[in-house]
Amino acid sequence: MTAAPLLVLSMLAASSGDIIYTQAEVAGATLSIEIRQPIEDGKAEEVLEWLYDTASLHQEVYGRFPNPAPRIVVIPSSRSSHSGDKAVYFGRVTRRGQETVELFINADRPINEFYEDWTATHEFSHLMLPLLSRRYRWISEGFASYYQNILMSRSGRYTPALAWQRIGEGFGRGETSGPGLTLNEAAASGIRDARMKIYWSGAAIALLADIELRHRSDGRQSLDSVLGQLQQCCLPSSRRWSGIRLFEKLDSFLDAPVFMPLYRQHANTQGFPDMQPVLQSLGVRLGSSEAFLDEQQPLSSIRRAIDHPSSGRLDPP
Ligand SMILES: [Zn+2]
Repeated sequence: MTAAPLLVLSMLAASSGDIIYTQAEVAGATLSIEIRQPIEDGKAEEVLEWLYDTASLHQEVYGRFPNPAPRIVVIPSSRSSHSGDKAVYFGRVTRRGQETVELFINADRPINEFYEDWTATHEFSHLMLPLLSRRYRWISEGFASYYQNILMSRSGRYTPALAWQRIGEGFGRGETSGPGLTLNEAAASGIRDARMKIYWSGAAIALLADIELRHRSDGRQSLDSVLGQLQQCCLPSSRRWSGIRLFEKLDSFLDAPVFMPLYRQHANTQGFPDMQPVLQSLGVRLGSSEAFLDEQQPLSSIRRAIDHPSSGRLDPP
């Protein structure tokens, strides 16, 4: 669990019919939480604590939750449904009106499994970007896939070695998914043919941008800090953005562009960014369950800054 401080102003759950409503102040945001039925009272309390803890992970990006007033809806499965074994078996963000994160849970699973599950962290990470048009789904899913892993690491829910193993495995799956497609073609081709390309190519771009930002600013800038500037200027946004508009906006915060050069290099190119040399420079060597992390590689200190808390700055040399 995270050690990030929580300021809970209100945890007074009011039961109204079948739905539990409560509000909580977490990481500078007021979360309006609804928990549907069926769920036992004791489990509902545990799920609330897990939600606070999970939302608070975002303090480790730019110090606050990306939306100051989101709605979080928790929908337990009934015992007769086929929700599988996962604690959180599905999540999604809807943006008709108030930005809403819906989490479909299996309330029968023990609460420790919720803390190990990445789904809620992935969905909350989506709120760091505006709604993008379908063609650019690789950016929204990719950035969320990147942050789900590094936030799980920064919070201690994953070891850094597990987070990098999952990132590296994700890149491997992305490489073999729809290899003849460009990144911009992947979403149109559909989840069945290009799912892993959609989920991991944008994560590769997020990592490349993060490294470049940290490297050239000596740790003063990072993907965290640039997304913080985006949040300050533009989020939550009621509009649908293009990927180009997003990347141009991110570049507008910088002295020299990072995002559009990556876009021009990769977005309309078949295949997948070559991440093997990048992982090697970061000191990441994949294992069977956890990566081996080498501290002697050129970008090892950047890797530690990414996967550790308060990572706005590089470790001192
Ligand atoms: Zn997603």
